[in-house]
Amino acid sequence: MNDLLPGAVERWQHLEATVHRVLAAYGYREIRLPIVEKTELFARSIGTHTDIVEKEMYTFEDRNHESLTLRPEGTAGCVRAGIENGLLHNQVQRLWYGGPMFRHERPQKGRYRQFHQIGVEAFGMEGPDVDAELILMNARLWRALGIDELVLQLNSLGTPQARAAYREQLVRYLESRRDELDEDSRQRLAKNPLRVLDGKNPAMQEVIAGAPSLLDHLDEASRRHFEGVRATLDAAGVRYAINPRLVRGLDYYTRTVFEWTSERLGAQSAVCAGGRYDGLVEQLGGKSAPAAGFALGLERLAELLSVPAAVAAEASPQVYLALPGSDAERPGLLLAERLRDGGLRVECHCGGGGLKAQLKRADRSGARFALLLGDEELAKHCVAVKDLRTDAPQHLVAQDAAADYLKQRLSASA
Ligand code: ATP
Ligand code: MG
Repeated sequence: MNDLLPGAVERWQHLEATVHRVLAAYGYREIRLPIVEKTELFARSIGTHTDIVEKEMYTFEDRNHESLTLRPEGTAGCVRAGIENGLLHNQVQRLWYGGPMFRHERPQKGRYRQFHQIGVEAFGMEGPDVDAELILMNARLWRALGIDELVLQLNSLGTPQARAAYREQLVRYLESRRDELDEDSRQRLAKNPLRVLDGKNPAMQEVIAGAPSLLDHLDEASRRHFEGVRATLDAAGVRYAINPRLVRGLDYYTRTVFEWTSERLGAQSAVCAGGRYDGLVEQLGGKSAPAAGFALGLERLAELLSVPAAVAAEASPQVYLALPGSDAERPGLLLAERLRDGGLRVECHCGGGGLKAQLKRADRSGARFALLLGDEELAKHCVAVKDLRTDAPQHLVAQDAAADYLKQRLSASA
């Protein structure tokens, strides 16, 4: 679980602000959800025989001996909230939420125990158009963030019925190669065989590649649905690779599943994953409603991001007000207030000290200008303006005119 310090946090602010803007452009609205839910919510939605539920959840008993869990993902809580608040029955909802998720995994680069997602969920739309729109929204987001390297993998899991037939074939295949399976895969074979396809062990990749393809077992309606998604992506010029082994780590998906990956991230390469989950609302006690969504992994996206200089600059004050004059503190604070009234970002020196030390702090603040309020300036109701980033000569301006003067200098050099 990581601290995010000033200097790193600006990248996150830029990332989040950009995501919010793109989501709003598609009519998505924010929903805020609790971080803690009843444990059974996750067991019932994610699936009992998944890594998350079997070994990764932070689960505890509260004072009433109720079993609670720090959310390992957001979809389950969003569906619960949608059912409880009557948002899902016969309605269309486009929702998003963000915040920390918790999984007790082995920490490594790109994999943390507290990590952050922005999750997006679309309820009440069953056609392939919304699946495609979610992916187009992803593509627009990557453009807005200036990330151009992501590769889209696409698959369809079909309906649970079609998957059951496939599952039998897969089990037969895996049994026939049992000697080559690692311990993890043998356990998955016994409990949840499709999860073998999601194995990350390089030694298993050849066995996985030889497995029968889920796409050969799709029911007719799922096949048409998948064709619909692909046709829209083709028409919009979004490139993708069909990956018939893409199964995702959560059991609630049906039909479309997808993942965006980057080669720059090493082993933890997925920055965004999602798909359709038509059965989940009913499974959690609501009236049946189609749904699809995705989650962005913010740590991994932040890793790929470079913040535009103009955005980074906004994290610093534009002006540092130094107060070398005796009794300059109060007039200084009041002058700083007036400059902020004028729309400037101002850091006002507090705590005294010599001019040299104050200018050192001014420089470190990242401000473009230092303003000096010494005894002489105080007496004349002026302030001296020192450009910290060029050799321009120091300039004396009336305090009343300072805000306009500074804004003009700032916009002249922008
Ligand atoms: P992975 O295959 O990387 O384990 P997952 O299938 O568990 O991912 P999801 O539960 O679908 O992933 O989560 C969506 C996204 O959240 C992932 O693509 C990834 O970017 C991010 N993510 C998941 N787990 C972690 C983690 N422990 N630390 C950081 N980011 C994570
Ligand atoms: Mg995982």
